Amino acid sequence: MKRVLVLIIFAFFSIDTAFPKPHYEKRKTALITGSISGIGLSIAIEMAKAGYNVVLNGFGDVDAAVAQVSAFGTKVIYHGADLRNPAEIKDMFRGIERTFDGLDVLVNNAGIQRVHPIEEFPVDEWNDIIAVNLTASFLTTRLALPYFRKKGWGRIINIASTHGLVASVNKAAYVAAKHGIIGLTKVTALETADSDITCNAVCPGWVLTPLVQKQIEDRARQKGASIEKERRALVAEKHPSGKFVTPKEIAQVVIFLCTPAANQMRGSQLVIDGGWTAQ
Ligand code: NAD
Repeated sequence: MKRVLVLIIFAFFSIDTAFPKPHYEKRKTALITGSISGIGLSIAIEMAKAGYNVVLNGFGDVDAAVAQVSAFGTKVIYHGADLRNPAEIKDMFRGIERTFDGLDVLVNNAGIQRVHPIEEFPVDEWNDIIAVNLTASFLTTRLALPYFRKKGWGRIINIASTHGLVASVNKAAYVAAKHGIIGLTKVTALETADSDITCNAVCPGWVLTPLVQKQIEDRARQKGASIEKERRALVAEKHPSGKFVTPKEIAQVVIFLCTPAANQMRGSQLVIDGGWTAQ
């Protein structure tokens, strides 16, 4: 009997060595939406550095983003889902299922911005902003939660904004979507409160990314001022610190939210805004 048991154990380990699982199957996997530039790319880099497999998504220089995130030895895949389209979001999750053992961390980061007074706000632009900045996070959250519940652990981190807490003129759709995602964060946190799944929001102030660079260029054009002057004016208007937040500073807070130190942070809004909302 003892010999049979030894043989069974030996056979098990031989099979395991003959067909070793790819190393990435033992790692946790993080999906970061909108991770081809700006804050999302920085989060993807820090997640890979921390040992996570990474699913990239978004538009732009995909090859450059994949190369940067792949430099840390974890498995990196890309899916080009347009987050305005629920069917494409579903297909992205099918791709994750095919490659990885499901998902462990979801960072809802993708966002777009358009600036108009309410009376002139084009309805299609309103719809796009709500779709990308809010509805997509609801859709990814409901697809991710079954994996998290099965694994008994998960992290959802929503990249909101100070505009989830306060408003600015001409940003009706963005401010509405960002206030909405703070609400979605709280409900998700409550519906997962009896588990090791957490959901929190990060609220950055101004970060110098393509999304903000476009606003600076528009302001410079409208005022006939230099881009450099408008860059300094923009940050000085809102941040008592006079400094932009960096994408890496945000990414490191996201990493912190994935550590055990953040186990009981649920439904919170982590403000990183150079003092903007302290005023
Ligand atoms: P960014 O423009 O550099 O990145 C946005 C990302 O979203 C890109 O990868 C883009 O391809 C992707 N994206 C846009 N539309 C998409 C769609 N339909 N489907 C899939 N992907 C799409 O901007 P960023 O500044 O890095 O913004 C990232 C997040 O941070 C956004 O949610 C933004 O609202 C938020 N945020 C930014 C700032 C800031 O000052 N830059 C401040 C507060 C919050």
